[in-house]
Amino acid sequence: MEPSRIAIFTPALTSRLATLSHFPTSPVYSPSVFEFTSLASSGRARVATLTTPHGDVTTPMFMPVGTQGSVKGLSATELREIGSQVILGNTYHLLLRPGLEVMRQFGGLPGFTAYPGAFLTDSGGFQVMSLGDIRTISERGVIFKNHINGDPLEMTPESSIAAQEAIGADIIMAFDECPPHPATFDYGKASLERTVRWLERCLNAKTRPDQALFAIAQGGVDLELRRISLEATLPFATPGFAIGGLAVGEPKELMMPVVEFSTARMPAGKPRYLMGVGFPEDLISCIALGVDMFDCVYPTRTARFGYALTDDGRLNLNNAACRTDPRPLQDGCDCYACTHHSRAYIAHLQRAKEMLAPRLLSLHNLRYLHRITETARTMIRAGRYHDFALEWGERYFKGAIPAWFSEAIEAGRG
Ligand SMILES: [Zn+2]
Repeated sequence: MEPSRIAIFTPALTSRLATLSHFPTSPVYSPSVFEFTSLASSGRARVATLTTPHGDVTTPMFMPVGTQGSVKGLSATELREIGSQVILGNTYHLLLRPGLEVMRQFGGLPGFTAYPGAFLTDSGGFQVMSLGDIRTISERGVIFKNHINGDPLEMTPESSIAAQEAIGADIIMAFDECPPHPATFDYGKASLERTVRWLERCLNAKTRPDQALFAIAQGGVDLELRRISLEATLPFATPGFAIGGLAVGEPKELMMPVVEFSTARMPAGKPRYLMGVGFPEDLISCIALGVDMFDCVYPTRTARFGYALTDDGRLNLNNAACRTDPRPLQDGCDCYACTHHSRAYIAHLQRAKEMLAPRLLSLHNLRYLHRITETARTMIRAGRYHDFALEWGERYFKGAIPAWFSEAIEAGRG
């Protein structure tokens, strides 16, 4: 456990926040609040701290997804105990329910939930496009029918920022379009150019200096489109940059070169966030390439189907072999599930459809990913991250490491 994870409103931060009242309507962010400090590096992998209004966080980190203002089944106390730092909230869901008036009444997610750490919200764009019944995408924004009651709604860069200011996360994201995979070059180019214009509108709409707005580079799996997007996006000098548009159905062989290409061009002094990516092997390989932040519904979603993440790959608790297995989910794991229960007990709960099963598996799976990032930090500090990554891969892939994985690790040696 690293002490920086539990730092909340240190005296230094409180005094920094006090200075914010001098420019409450500044359209930019306060660089003094969102400092990104490098602590160590190993090849392209690095350890750093990011200061937020709700405490310092240490990267590389995995951010659990709390779609409805809740990481399904887990309490704020449990999340802190397993080492969660930043929790992700989904703007699309929260603006539909409970709605922005309730959010404002309670001071956004920090006041509405009991979670004492930092939050990040997505812009809503991705979910409008994946869940909503899209009517039109135009220069102005997106008109869609919401998936709860079918009412037509419009989301624009300005309304996304207004919503994210009401929801009150520390890190907010630019409103963008994430084209489906595959998309044509011409569509991808027109889309990413519009996303850059939307980024400018987001920055102009932004009023809260205590929130950091991260820009998102798009371009699908086409490196030329990625180059165009990065060249147009990086000059905005936002306090962090995200790689969007990956993990939307493309194979790893196409995804990893985009990560390698993008992190090599993103500034060293700012956090790099790979959106929606969070398989264990993704964390190990993308940390090697210099990614700092990850989020994904995968660890909690797969838990609800009865799966545990382990060093030997995904363990299916529905398998008959687990019913009499006295071992913990993962040898050496320090989570509550592994220090108290056998696979046999959790497999029984899973078969009996007891609600404790998905809770224990969610706790373990999130702790497993947090431990990967904690081990990564230790190995980066020791200067042997990439050797560790290959050793990890040897066991995880049962001696058959795929080329995309080993190539990413080698490229990350820098
Ligand atoms: Zn565990």
